[in-house]
Amino acid sequence: MILLKCRYIATFNTREEILENAYIGIDEKSGKIEYIGKEKPQKPYDEVIELNKHVVMPSFINAHTHVPMVLLRGLKDDVDLHTWLNKYIFPAEDRLKATDIYYGALQGIAELIESGTSLFIDMYFYEEEIAKAVMESGVRAILSRGVLDITENRTPETEVKKTLDFLAFLERMWSSNLETRDRIFFALGPHAPYTCSRELLILMREKAEELKKKLNNVWINIHVAETRNEFEDFLEKTGKSPVSYLDSIGFLGSDVLSIHTIWVRDEDLAVLAKNKVIVVHNPSSNLKLGSGIAPVPKMLEKGIRVLIGTDSAASNNRLDILSEARLAALLHKGITGNPAILPAKKILRMLTIDAAKALGLDGLLGSIEVGKQADLVIFNIKKTLQAYPFHDIYSLIIYSLDLRAVEKVMVKGRWVYDNGQFLTIKNIEKILERNAETRRRIEDELGI
Ligand SMILES: [Zn+2]
Repeated sequence: MILLKCRYIATFNTREEILENAYIGIDEKSGKIEYIGKEKPQKPYDEVIELNKHVVMPSFINAHTHVPMVLLRGLKDDVDLHTWLNKYIFPAEDRLKATDIYYGALQGIAELIESGTSLFIDMYFYEEEIAKAVMESGVRAILSRGVLDITENRTPETEVKKTLDFLAFLERMWSSNLETRDRIFFALGPHAPYTCSRELLILMREKAEELKKKLNNVWINIHVAETRNEFEDFLEKTGKSPVSYLDSIGFLGSDVLSIHTIWVRDEDLAVLAKNKVIVVHNPSSNLKLGSGIAPVPKMLEKGIRVLIGTDSAASNNRLDILSEARLAALLHKGITGNPAILPAKKILRMLTIDAAKALGLDGLLGSIEVGKQADLVIFNIKKTLQAYPFHDIYSLIIYSLDLRAVEKVMVKGRWVYDNGQFLTIKNIEKILERNAETRRRIEDELGI
């Protein structure tokens, strides 16, 4: 049993309370918050932690990643998406082995933790290796096996099989390690409407419906309308935009995470709103690849739920959700000319309670409330001069602080990070060395 004595708690509960000089009592066994209040609880706690220069808030949800791609960070910068993928990323990925993915994922997860993230949504191949890394590192993830069938030797059937094989792997993990059931979740991962055939997309929708009968949560995440090329190609070939095409085949729904969603017209936004699709905004990756900027304020105006993701470290090049959130907050003010757009509190809600609600996980996490899981990020505001003076906690976190101020991260009542130490990922130095070696090998093989 741990008792936190906190200077500030940003609860993100329904009243959006900020508590000063208050306590959080945590039951480590269940991982749950069992007490919140100004009074010190009567019952004895095994450990009392003084956090008198700290802000405690719910830890973050990074809604789009390909974590092992830390291995390919900076492999090629300053080129467009098409060249980047076809000339560099795909050939490099062909050379990655399962164990490379495992160690890449461990480093990626460590980077996520470093900026206060406790839940991420991932799409990649060898996703089993990523699941192992998530299991060991104690964080939470929604994992999907990325599939596509436009290349040789792939059919809708081979890709559905890969998806179901991954689910079978997770089912074995869930039954052999019960604790992972509310930590590791399954999603379907058709890569994009331009890399998946119509048949495959329809099969993915059918499988999602089927799986909902046995799983509590199933999502489909897919990259949509990322580039102008994709948008124009679809218009030319189908007479429809990527969004209206997906709607026409019955693919869209409230379980769909539409990643990027940059090239959308007003009528596409109406389609997304009507189908209750969730959009994932990845501003750094979209800017870096010159893809464009998603019209997030318009989406929010239409009632579309928008989450924030970093995308991969190959296109970002960080997995730092704090710098991503700050960029999102600033970017849309500049574009719209309206400084009131996406205020700091709203941005933080998009990383916590609003994300949890959109994903249907708000019964479990997303705010600091009795009965919810203790998934916490703790900022030490003495870590950086940038913190002083301040008058608003939300503004402090979004505009002033950066990941240097992240002192501790707890997931499910268990510390995973404390003062620069990764408590659940052992030998981070060795992992970095191994990953650097993998990188050298790939560059040698590619001759770059
Ligand atoms: Zn992506």
